[in-house]
Amino acid sequence: MSRSKIVQSKINQSTISLFALIVVVASLVSCMQESPPETPPQNVQHYACPMECEGSKTYLVPGSCPICKMDLELVERDFNSKI
Ligand SMILES: [Zn+2]
Repeated sequence: MSRSKIVQSKINQSTISLFALIVVVASLVSCMQESPPETPPQNVQHYACPMECEGSKTYLVPGSCPICKMDLELVERDFNSKI
């Protein structure tokens, strides 16, 4: 057979390899984009004085404010946004 046919075959193989590489890279990139960057923030329930007598201090259990004696309000604080 002619030599050009062998060269053509090698080009095809390299093209397939390159295509496979592109597919792998594309799938990796798309997979990275689909997955969430971090675990979703966990909103923890807290109780805080509605008058904020103690600033941003919160309690893990419901009760009354030790300063103004008002009932603590349920708040959901996002720790990630607090940093
Ligand atoms: Zn208070």
